[in-house]
Order: sequence, then structure tokens, then C-alpha cells
Amino acid sequence: MKGYGMIRVGQPGWLEHEKPTAGPMDAILRPVMLAPCSSDTHMMHGGSGPVEDRILGHEAVGEVVEVGSLVTKFKKGDIVVVPCTTPNWEELGVQRKGGNNAHDCTTASSFKFLTVKDGVFAEYFSVNNADANLVLLPEDVSMEDALMTTDMMSTGMYGAEMANIQLGDTVVVFGIGPVGLMAVAGAALLGAGRIIAIGTRPNCVKFAREYGATDIVSYKDGNVVDQILAIAGGQVDSAIIAGGNSATMNQALSVVRANGTVSNVNFLDATDAYNVPTPLVFMGMGDVTIRGGFCPGGAVRIQKLLNLIRAGRVHPGKMLNYKYEGFDKIPEAFDVMDKKPSDLIKPVVKINW
Ligand SMILES: [Zn+2]
Repeated sequence: MKGYGMIRVGQPGWLEHEKPTAGPMDAILRPVMLAPCSSDTHMMHGGSGPVEDRILGHEAVGEVVEVGSLVTKFKKGDIVVVPCTTPNWEELGVQRKGGNNAHDCTTASSFKFLTVKDGVFAEYFSVNNADANLVLLPEDVSMEDALMTTDMMSTGMYGAEMANIQLGDTVVVFGIGPVGLMAVAGAALLGAGRIIAIGTRPNCVKFAREYGATDIVSYKDGNVVDQILAIAGGQVDSAIIAGGNSATMNQALSVVRANGTVSNVNFLDATDAYNVPTPLVFMGMGDVTIRGGFCPGGAVRIQKLLNLIRAGRVHPGKMLNYKYEGFDKIPEAFDVMDKKPSDLIKPVVKINW
């Protein structure tokens, strides 16, 4: 079968691989809609080390073409939403994490596409533990909206969930790419009174306001920390980091109050390092909670996010503003994700088999 990915670091291209086979609990799918992500391009540039010959892609709505002998909930022809994180729910490490947020980051085994097997930019891809990970596409949810639950919405909203937001709180969101926009939407749903979003791209700023940002700060207008403190009239309750670099942690620690929370969902490189001057954490005695989290997966998580969409509380599909049709358009969509034109929020490819 054909798939698109990385021939080696820095060299994207078409690959010819064996069609995956279904183990007893697996499903084999073909993508009907997929979205390239900065994690795919990041990996192509070597962000995850010297990977070769790997089909990329991890955000998809798919059609079931085959199920393993133990799969009971799905059958050939079903259109399903595929979380990008697909835990092995029988693993004790996953169970220890508990509930819908279960993902076994300790072994990094729950994020399987890209890391341990081929991704979804392929004629066929496999999903482990299909009954526990897949969700039927509801009739009253658009495919675009459903596609955005698989990573952007699950990751961004987890940033808000980890931020301990109380009714009326003031929350800062660093970065308003698609994950940051969903963090803004999540903070609004959790009851933040003020949401200060940090970003400059006009399209992203427009969407940030639509998703609930009350104030916008641009680095182009001066020191970001000073601007936030001026707008908030002092320090804020929580900061969510959904972009930037390792130094963004210092900005977050500068604006969060004592007993506040910093929540990070930004993906840093193995070569990055936090370098936190002690005054930012009250000479080491500052009581600030710092949390980091990875996109929660599994069927219950996706079901909950789909419920938010069905209730009309969020419309994530409108972020998809570069649209392509056809399997052969995957390279074009991947390239636009890589080059990030200034009006890009998120590309999408619809595939008509
Ligand atoms: Zn992604």
C-alpha cells in the first residue's frame, strides 16, 4: 500500500509498505478525512530523532475495513473517529492513570502512530484496542468537527483542565495556534472570567476572540509579561502554555500568582532545557503548581468532546481553513503545515475512495 511520510529526516515522500494486518483486538481502517499536524512536520525535521521510512499522520476519521476476532462494537463500513492517542487499556500503567485521562506517558506507549508504527497518511492503518479507542461518528456531528477532537481539542482542552480554573479566574494562554485556540475555548467553558491570549497572527487573533479570549497580547507591542500584568492589574490565576519555547515557562511563572497553576501542553525537544531564575519561584519556596500533560485518548475522552460539540458549546472544525480533496493531495497539505503561511490555522484533506 501507499503512504506518505518521511523517507528519512528532512526528506518527506511517498512510501510503499505492507498493508497492516488486524490482531484480535485491532481494526484496520482507511482514512476518509485527515489533518496534518505540526507534530508530523516536527518529526520529519528530526524532532524525534533519526527516524526513517515511517508513514506520518495521526489525526483521522476513518472507515473500518476489517476488524479482529475479538472486536464486538465495530464492523466493516463503520465511519469512526480515531483518537491520536490509543492506549492499551489492559496495561496496568494505563489503568493507574485512571479514567478518561489515562495515557501511559511513562512508557510513551499510548501515542503509537509515528512513534512505534505507521501513521494515518496511508491507504490503510491499524488501530489497537478498537473497542476501547474508536467512536462511531455521530450523525449530528460534522466530520470536520469530529476530526478536531482527535488531537487539537483533546490536547488544548487538557491544557485548560490541568490549569485548575475556577469561576471568574483570569487565565493566560501562551500561543494561539489550533491547540492554543482549543485551550482558550476550554478555559471559557470551565468558567474563566478573563482570558488573555498571547499571539499575533490576525486569523488566530480573530478565532481566539471567537473562542472566548477577552484580551489579546502581541509580543510586537512590547514585553509580553509587562503587558499581561498591566491588563490583569497584577498576577493571574493560571497560565496555559500551548506554544513558544522552553523560555515561555519563565514568562508563565512571571505572571502566575502564588498558589497559581502553570499548565503545559507544548512539545519541547529533548535538547531543550528549562532555566528558571529562582526569583520567579520565590527563591525556590514559591507555591506554584506546574503541570504538563499529553493528549488524552480513548473512546470515553472522544465521546465527551463530541458531546461538547453536539451541545453547541464549541465548533472546532471552523479552524480548518486550508482544505484539500483527494489522497494525492496529502503532500500539498503536509507542505502547507510545514511552511505555515501566516493565515494558516489548520489544513485538512478529505479523501474520496
Ligand atoms: Zn496532532
